[in-house]
Amino acid sequence: MRQLEEEAKQYMEQKYDNINFSSYQEMAAETAVYKSEHQVIYPALGLAAEAGEVANKVKKILRDGKFDREAIADEVGDCLWYIAALCRDLNVDMVELARGNLRKLHDRKVRGVIQGSGDKR
Ligand SMILES: [Mg+2]
Repeated sequence: MRQLEEEAKQYMEQKYDNINFSSYQEMAAETAVYKSEHQVIYPALGLAAEAGEVANKVKKILRDGKFDREAIADEVGDCLWYIAALCRDLNVDMVELARGNLRKLHDRKVRGVIQGSGDKR
């Protein structure tokens, strides 16, 4: 039994070594266990909650004077999972999402409107 567990763990570690947004999105879906009628809503609320957890860990820099990089990064990872789940529910490929976002930001930078506000700059 212990041998099988170890082999399974090594198999998963090898899968994780070659990860990209596409494979992450697929693997994250394997652990998405919420009801189908809760699609979009569940991951959107989860993302908001995890973003709050990031903010709470950062807040503790002010309160405790302690910068816990690993704890903050762990919460960012939780955000990533919810982003992957939300993308799946919206039928959005994370690679395409990332490309589109980079194109948008590059375009804003080139046009000199990277700073400021408004979704349609
Ligand atoms: Mg969390």
